[in-house]
Parts: sequence; structure tokens; C-alpha cells
Amino acid sequence: MMKVLVINAGSSSLKYQLYNMEDESVLASGRVERIGMDSSIVTHEPVDKPEVRTVDEILDHVSAVKKVLAALMHPEYGALKSMDEIQAVGHRVVHGGEVFKSSVLVTNEVKLEIRNLFDLAPLHNPAHMMGILAVETNMPNIPQVVVFDTAFHQTMPETSYLYPIPKVLYRRHKVRRYGFHGTSHQYVSEQAAEFLGAPLESLKIVSCHIGNGASCTAIKDGKSFDTSMGMTPLEGLMMGTRSGDLDPAIVPYVMNKEELTLNEVNSMLNKHSGMLAISGISSDMREVQEAIADGDRNAKLAFDMYTYRMRKYIGAYAAAMNGIDTLIFTAGVGENSAVLRKAVCEGLTFLGLELDETRNAERSKHARYISTDSSRIKVLVVPTNEELLIARDTYRIVQATV
Ligand code: ADP
Repeated sequence: MMKVLVINAGSSSLKYQLYNMEDESVLASGRVERIGMDSSIVTHEPVDKPEVRTVDEILDHVSAVKKVLAALMHPEYGALKSMDEIQAVGHRVVHGGEVFKSSVLVTNEVKLEIRNLFDLAPLHNPAHMMGILAVETNMPNIPQVVVFDTAFHQTMPETSYLYPIPKVLYRRHKVRRYGFHGTSHQYVSEQAAEFLGAPLESLKIVSCHIGNGASCTAIKDGKSFDTSMGMTPLEGLMMGTRSGDLDPAIVPYVMNKEELTLNEVNSMLNKHSGMLAISGISSDMREVQEAIADGDRNAKLAFDMYTYRMRKYIGAYAAAMNGIDTLIFTAGVGENSAVLRKAVCEGLTFLGLELDETRNAERSKHARYISTDSSRIKVLVVPTNEELLIARDTYRIVQATV
């Protein structure tokens, strides 16, 4: 017992981690890819043994979960003797709308509410629902918990979450800022407070989750005060393939000039913009950095725009909170790219921020300082771990209900 399975179900993929909650260790993890396609791939990663890859026909999420359980109970490379050892399953759910302000136990009512949110997250929520139902089918007696990317941001004040457009759109269609990456922003801000030995409530934090998707969050009194992603993850920072902020009038103008459909313009802004569009090379920060090293000017421009826009958000949030004392970098780019952190911090010296270049260049799996000891603003790199937060919430909620 005391084992929790964390699942992140996408439309054609399903990632999983099995946690032992006694010491919060990962017992096994893996992913199923290409669900519903000709050949699906299961990659199972036991902790102390080499990974096992199998190619199989997996038509839906129900069979995907069946394969995951089989891998977890495999006599050679499994981590469980029986399914009963799993106490609960926790799911990542992208959109919780205004209904879900924290993680909850899955009930019929909760499933109905998640369904009601399909319109707001058409690419994500239906896939998460398939994951929930697949677990229900395979493990009928095991409690499930849902953890929302939006929940942490539900504390934002109206001034942060309303858009200055006719109010009827908010009333009728719930058009407002929700924000995403909430699990990550919450996790890294808690880790930062622990690392600094200060109460979270006492800090004015800007946390930068910079991966393929990217968002900044202003955290005040321990709560999300504002965040750069909006009603959808398209708003805010320039990202790998997403535009981030732009003049909304560009959308009808370009649709008209280029005779684009709604789907086409959506896909242009979400999949063919951002760093990919400007560099003309890649959405992947590593490849962009390599191209810069080779002297590519477009790659340099993409990188400069990317970091310039980050700096503007950090400045805006410092103003929004009337101060900032902690700046956090996390996720794939934020944790690994010393070059990006340097470029962002170099333009923030007016805030009293001093980067320590030696610390910035070091690597670690743990939270660490990259600012100098005398810097007025503490700059930290904090590795994110959304799965662990999902496991913790799941365990806590299930313990409280038994
Ligand atoms: P996702 O948003 O898909 O979860 P991640 O948080 O894993 O993404 O971030 C992926 C991004 O991190 C990619 O752009 C990748 O190039 C970048 N990245 C990973 N390692 C490095 C590195 N050492 N230097 C620069 N960028 C890196």
C-alpha cells in the first residue's frame, strides 16, 4: 500500500509514474505512445533496470492502461505483485475552469463537470477523461483524484483575470484568464520558500516555467496573483511554436488577406509561430542555441525576442506586485539553459538583480541560487516536478476520505 499511480493522458499518449508515498520515491515510470495508430509503443522504465520497449497494437486508452498495469506487475521488470498495492490514481487535467479551485476525488459529478469544460480545452480534457474512464474500467475499486493545471491560478483577482471586452462574453461563455502550468508554479514556489527558509506568504515571487510551452506567474501572499497564459495557453510569452501576445486585430486581418479558416489561423498561432517561425530552424531551444553558435542570424533574433519578452513580463509583474524578491527559473529551458537565464537577468540589474555567472553555469538536480550573495533579488533554479505534486495531492485527498 501507500503506492500512487500518476497518469497524464493525452489523445494518443499516456505517461505514468508509480510512487511509493512512504519516501516519495519513483518505483517505475513510462509512457504509451501512438495509441489508436498502427503500432503503439510502450516504454517502461523500472528504476534500477534498463528500460523495456514493446511495440503493440493498442486501440484505445482502456487497452493502454491494461498494458501499463501488465508492465507494472511484470515478474521480471515490474514493481508490483498485485494491482491492490496501488492505493489511488492521480490524473493531470489541463482545464478545471472556475469550478475546480483545488484537486478533488473523482465522482460522477466531477466527471460531469470535466465534460462541461470540453469546450474550453478541446484538445486536452477529452483525452484526460478517456484516461479516467480507462482506469475505472481496469481498476474499478481504486479511488482517483484529478489535479488541474488551472487550479492554482483561481486565486487571481478580477483585475488580473478579466479581459476588457463586453462582460456578456464572460457571463455567457466564461471568457476570462485561467492560466496554466499551475501545478508547476505552485510546486516551485513552495520549493523556493523551503530552500530560502522563509514563509511562502512573505515572498513576492515571479516564477518562469520555460519549456516548449512557457509562462510567468506573479505569486504574492503565497497565491497566484497574475499569470501570462490566458483563456488558453496561447497568450503571454513567446514560446517554441506559439506566438504569445500579439495585437488581436492581426487575427481577422490575416484571415482576410490570406483567406484562412478558423482552424488554419488557430494552427498558425499555436503550431507555426514563436521561436520556430522566427528562427526558421526549430522550436527546440537546444537547436536554436546551436544555430546561434554557428552564426545564424535568424536564430539569434528568435532568441533575443524570446528573452526580451520574458524580461518585459518579469518587469510587469514586479510592478504588478509593487516589488519582487525572488525570481525562479524552471522546466526544460529554465532549468538547463544558462545562456537564456543570463540573457534575461542581464537586463534586470535596475531591480538590484546580480547574477553569479559561475553559479549560473553549474548544473544540479536540486534547487539552487544563481544570484550573488549581495543581490537584492534572489534568483533560483528550481527543478519542477508536477508528477510529485499530483502524487502528493492524490495521497492526501485519499487519506482524508478513507
Ligand atoms: P514541455 O513543455 O514539453 O514539458 P520541457 O519542459 O521538457 O517541455 O522543455 C523542453 C525544452 O527544453 C526544449 O525546447 C529543449 O530544447 C529545452 N532544453 C532541454 N535541455 C536543454 C539544454 N541543455 N539547453 C537548452 N535548452 C534545453
